[in-house]
This record gives sequence, C-alpha cells and structure tokens, in this order.
Amino acid sequence: MPIFLFGTEEQKKKYLAVLCSGEAMGSFGLTEPEAGSDAGGTKTTAVPEGDHWLINGSKCFITNAGFAKFVTITAVTEKNKGKKGISAIIVPTGTPGFTIRSGYEKMGLHGSNTTELFFDNVRVPKENLVGKEGEGFRQFLQVLDGGRVAIAAMAVGIGQACLDASLKYANERIQFGRTISKFQAIQFKLADMATHVELARLMYLKAAWLKDNGRPYSKEAAMAKLFASEIATRAALEAIQIHGGYGYMKEFPVERYLRDAKLLEIGEGTSEVNRLVIARQLGC
Ligand SMILES: Cc1cc2nc3c(=O)[nH]c(=O)nc-3n(C[C@H](O)[C@H](O)[C@H](O)COP(=O)(O)OP(=O)(O)OC[C@H]3O[C@@H](n4cnc5c(N)ncnc54)[C@H](O)[C@@H]3O)c2cc1C
Repeated sequence: MPIFLFGTEEQKKKYLAVLCSGEAMGSFGLTEPEAGSDAGGTKTTAVPEGDHWLINGSKCFITNAGFAKFVTITAVTEKNKGKKGISAIIVPTGTPGFTIRSGYEKMGLHGSNTTELFFDNVRVPKENLVGKEGEGFRQFLQVLDGGRVAIAAMAVGIGQACLDASLKYANERIQFGRTISKFQAIQFKLADMATHVELARLMYLKAAWLKDNGRPYSKEAAMAKLFASEIATRAALEAIQIHGGYGYMKEFPVERYLRDAKLLEIGEGTSEVNRLVIARQLGC
C-alpha cells in the first residue's frame, strides 16, 4: 500500500506488478522493539551516503517478511525532527546485511509468518525512498487506516465462523432430552453473536464504501476495527462455551477461532489506540 499510494511509476512497475501477479510477497515494516503503539519512536536509521541509504536498526512482529521479496520500512532520515524526520524506504530482502528471523512461537494465526528484521549497514539505492523524505510516518498511518478495514473484515469472518459452528453444534447436541439450541440461555448467546456479527459487517462495509468513494473514513475504519475485533473475541469465547468440553479441544475449530481473533485486537493499532483515534476524530 505505501508503494501503491505514494510510490513512483517505476517503483509501482518494479514492485507492485510482481505482487499482483502472485510472483512475490511484500511486507510492511513499522513496529520496532521500542516503537509499537508509539510508532513515532522509530529508532531505525537511514543515513544518506552518496547515491545510497545506509540502514541500521531492527523491526519486530513483521508479517510475511520470511517469504517477501522486499519490505517497505520506516526509518529516521533526519534526527531531531521527530515524526517529520521519518521516511519510508523499500528494502529488498536479499540485500547484504539484512537478516530476517522467523523465530516467534505465536498463540494463533499460524498460517502467517511473523518475523524480526535486523539491518546491519544495509545499503539500498536512494531511489528506494517512497514519496518524499520525512513523510514516512504520515504515509504509514494512512496505510493503517485502510488496513483497519481489512482487519475488521477478518474479524467478521471469524465471528461468522463462530456463529456457524455454534449453531450447528447447538442443533445437534442433546442434553436433558432435547437439543441445547432449545435452551433460552444458548439461544441468547447465538442471538447476540448474530447481532454483533451483522453490525460489525455493516460497519466495515460502510468504512470500505467511504474509502472506495474517496471520502474521509479514518474514524469509521477505527470504529469498525475496534468493534469487529472485540466482538470476534467475545463470539469465540461464547462459541467455546456453547461447545462445552469439546469447545476446549482441538478437534473442534472454535478454540482456534479464539486464538486467531485475539490478534485482531492488537495488530493495526490496539483497541486502546483505536479508541484514541476515534476520540481524536470526535474532537477531543
Ligand atoms: C502476529 C502479529 C503480526 C504483526 N504484523 C505486523 C506487521 O506486519 N507490520 C508491523 O509494522 N507491525 C506488525 N505487528 C505489530 C503490531 O502492530 C503491534 O504489536 C501493535 O501495534 C502494538 O504494539 P506493541 O506490541 O509494541 O504494544 P505496546 O505499544 O507496547 O502496547 C502495550 C499495551 O499498552 C497499551 N498502550 C500503549 N500506548 C497506549 C496509550 N497511549 N494509551 C493507552 N494504552 C496504550 C496498548 O494498547 C497495549 O495494551 C504485528 C503484531 C503481531 C502480534
């Protein structure tokens, strides 16, 4: 997205074409050990050296870099300018001095690769700068707005899966001579789950519609991401409860839904950060 939104035509041809054809993957390298929610605290540096940038520092929790051809990262190009001294730079993964480590053992989302990046005197051409110098922080925040719509959509998918699995199980499982779906306590859980999923779906579709139509959507994306991720975790907990002891076992899918849903309250801005974004948009 940083390249799509802010890159030159040459960068788009070189990097986006291979992403779109499925030949390569790319990664988004913002988070650092000391700069998570406070992404403006980026410590990685890129110093101009002739016609190159010399990059030093590290990133953590970066998705899919182990399979990527390149990573677009943020780095400080001008000290003492705070967030306005941060730029976005494309770093091909085979560049000497660039190490990617896939060593995390995650709670969930095992289908995605999560990595640490280390830059030890990594040299990339000056032309790998995305957009203008000093605009990387602003660019990455803009990209996160769009990402929040996608995270909300993922959360709706997990919430729907919880509902589908729970409804099926509740209509099959017999206790006290009837299916558990006949108990009002179970019906209320299913009704709440269905209502939340429906609302979250409408919220992310609205944010996506605003984005597609070139209207401001930052607040709506943060609201959709916040609400959808929190109801997905709640839906997964209720799905486990409806499945009883089997819900706690790996032979049923719902324990996985809980492990996967929880990340959605953390990535692309935690729930707390999204509440801050919404409050700021309200005028606080
Ligand atoms: C599986 C996975 C994949 C990821 N993929 C990527 C990726 O591809 N690219 C990338 O750049 N990053 C990625 N991340 C990083 C993710 O975006 C960060 O983990 C997230 O932004 C939180 O940063 P942190 O982990 O440093 O937590 P911290 O910022 O240290 O937060 C810790 C706690 O403090 C709270 N907190 C912090 N500041 C405030 C505040 N001002 N007010 C109230 N509460 C606050 C947080 O909400 C949280 O509850 C990924 C993370 C995970 C786990």
